[in-house]
Order: sequence, then structure tokens, then C-alpha cells
Amino acid sequence: AQHLSQAMGRIEPSQTTAMTDRATQLREEGRDIISLSVGEPDLPTPPHVIAAITEALAKGDTRYTPVGGTSAMKRAAALHFTRDLGIAASPTGITVSAGGKQAIFHALCATIDPGDEVVIPAPWWVSYPQIARFAGATVVPLPTTPETAFRFTAAELEAAITPRTRWLLLNSPGNPTGAVFPADELLAIAGVLDRHPQVLVMSDDIYAPLRYSGAPHATLAALRPDLSNRVLTVSGVSKSHAMTGLRIGVATGPEWLIRAMEKLQSHSSGNPASISQAGAVAALEGPQDFLSDWREIFRKRRDLVCKRIAAIPGLSTPVPDGAFYCLIDAAPLIGGRLADDTVLTLHLLEHGVATVAASAFGGDHCGLAGFRISFAASEDTLTKAMDRIEAAVKAL
Ligand code: PLP
Repeated sequence: AQHLSQAMGRIEPSQTTAMTDRATQLREEGRDIISLSVGEPDLPTPPHVIAAITEALAKGDTRYTPVGGTSAMKRAAALHFTRDLGIAASPTGITVSAGGKQAIFHALCATIDPGDEVVIPAPWWVSYPQIARFAGATVVPLPTTPETAFRFTAAELEAAITPRTRWLLLNSPGNPTGAVFPADELLAIAGVLDRHPQVLVMSDDIYAPLRYSGAPHATLAALRPDLSNRVLTVSGVSKSHAMTGLRIGVATGPEWLIRAMEKLQSHSSGNPASISQAGAVAALEGPQDFLSDWREIFRKRRDLVCKRIAAIPGLSTPVPDGAFYCLIDAAPLIGGRLADDTVLTLHLLEHGVATVAASAFGGDHCGLAGFRISFAASEDTLTKAMDRIEAAVKAL
């Protein structure tokens, strides 16, 4: 008989998948659909990364590696954490997994007992609450709004913490909001954490190179090294180096946690793909100067999209400080024909643009109704998409 675990009963299928399925169906019917629903850079994977993978294959680098990554990979990750994030990381405090997602999955599963609480700022990345619930935790949303550029205050965090709080999940720059926490606000957050020593912190810095304000990247483990026994910093090459399909993520944190994550990984996927590790070493040790060119490409796209959205009645968005997403508030359009923001995204799809409803990111916890677009597409594509969104709103 069919039987699914209680853990499976606690998670939901991804709403982004439902949108992708509908978009695919329309395309098969011959419709021209622009997809702004995906979370990956459209730019090509750098040629030196491809060359390193090809070379690794040619020399027969196709065997098991150590579960938590090769020593070359861990050294490259240590270089990345130190050089790019300002975290004094050593290879023993690092583990490598199949994407940042797997590091987060293993970290939460390794530390959560039933009834533990995980504080997640909302709007959130779709997988955070699902992973936390799968692990047995109760999700405690920490709502934010566009008025504060989707950043919460230390006082709001203090109010969300209870004796059962096990984790705070921090994501800066953030998906889906583009929110970036400046150093002074992170220090205020650390002040709250000082009063609650039972709370671990996940700092998901996977979008770190994509910041538009010019301020240096701020991250908790660099600002407050004395918290290092309870901060796990997750990063990777998926978003920064256009390597989403290669599945490499890196994490650094206290050794007790890193070893537990590797223990779990040793029984789940085993080592991350050997040739992908070779590519990631090349990505992290090779030239980094193209990253600033890429950032400028994304900045122009962001400006284009924000300008167009601001001119469409009923839509608004704060200008995102990082990552490649805009979370657009469309609350004035909801009601009547558009019962909720999922119906709005279906309406936009009928006009040829695939987006994702804000409710998929916990926007409903924040009184937000709208949709997320990814601006990881060419300026021509984005212009066409904005024309269609404008026409779709006019047609209401
Ligand atoms: N963290 C955030 C905030 C993300 O948006 C994503 C990908 O969408 C990930 C982690 C996972 O990235 P990876 O592809 O490396 O697993």
C-alpha cells in the first residue's frame, strides 16, 4: 500500500514548479512565454571553469572523493570565505555539498528536534520553511514589509525568539526581496543573539557578489567572530559564477556542526560530484574581475525593471540592493476578478510572462500580495516582458 512518512506530510510541492508546468504547457501550445520565474543567471559559465571540468574528465577524475569535498576544494572554499566574505575559515571548518541547498538541508536535519522553532524572516526563499518543517521544526515567520526594504529590526527579532528557538535563518542579499542588511543592523541582531545563546544562525550569503550599493559585504561571522561557535555561513558558486547545474555549495561554521553535516551527507548523497568540484576550484581560485562586469549588467537590468514597474499603476517595489529579483507589490490590483496573487500570476502568464506569486515566498505573512520576477534576462527580454506586464495590468 502507498504510505508516505509524516515528514512528507509536513511539506508542500514547490509553487514555482506549478508555474513552470503551466508555462511549459502554454509553450507546447505554441504560445510565446517569457520566463522570469527562474532563479539562475542567464550569463554563460566562465570558459576557464568549463576547461577545468573538461581537464578533470580527461584525466579520469571520475571517482569518489572525500565526502565533504577534496582538499583542493576545501582550500578554494577557505580562500573564498576569507577573501570574499571576510570570515577567517580554515579547511577543517568547511564542508562542500551538492549546492547550497543541500548544506542547508543537512544543517537543519542534523540539529532540529520536534517542537524546535526556526525563525525565518518573510518573505523567504521557498525552501527554508519546507526544510525546517521536514526536519520537524515549527516555523516562526518574522514578517517584513516593502516600507523597510524587507529588513527586520533587532526588536522584532527579540519578540520572535522563545526558549524553543533553535535557528535564525538570515539571507543577505535576499531571495526574493533583494534585501541587504548593513553591518550596523547585523551588529544589532548579534546583540539580540547574545541574550539567547541557544539560537544557531544560518547566514546564507549565496548572493554576496551581487550587491549594488557599493558598500562592502557585511556578514555576521566576519563582524562577530566570537559568535563562531553558532554561526553557519553558506555560500557557493551557483549564482555568483553561473554554475547552478553543477551543484556545488560550501559552508563554514563550528566543527561540531560541520562534522555532523558530513556524517549525514556520508549516508545521503556522499561526495559532491568530482568534476564539479574541479570546476568550482577553478571558479574560486581563477580570475574574479568579471564579477564586477556581471554586477554592472545586473544593475542596469534592475534599474530598467524598477523604472518600468514604478510607471505601472497598481504595482510598486522597493529598489532591491542585491541578488537578481524584484518582489513587486500588487495589492491594489487584488480583489474582484483577481482573488489572490496566484490568480494574478496566471493572468500575467496569459499575457506571456511567467512570474511567481508572492504568497509562494510567505508574502501572505507580511500582508503582501504580488509577484516576484527574476531580472536575470537580457535587457531586450526584460523590456518585452515589462510591455506585456503593463498590457496585462491595463487589461484588468
Ligand atoms: N539560498 C538561496 C537564498 C537561494 O535562492 C538558492 C537558490 O535558489 C540557494 C540557497 C541554493 O542554491 P544552490 O543552487 O547552490 O543549491
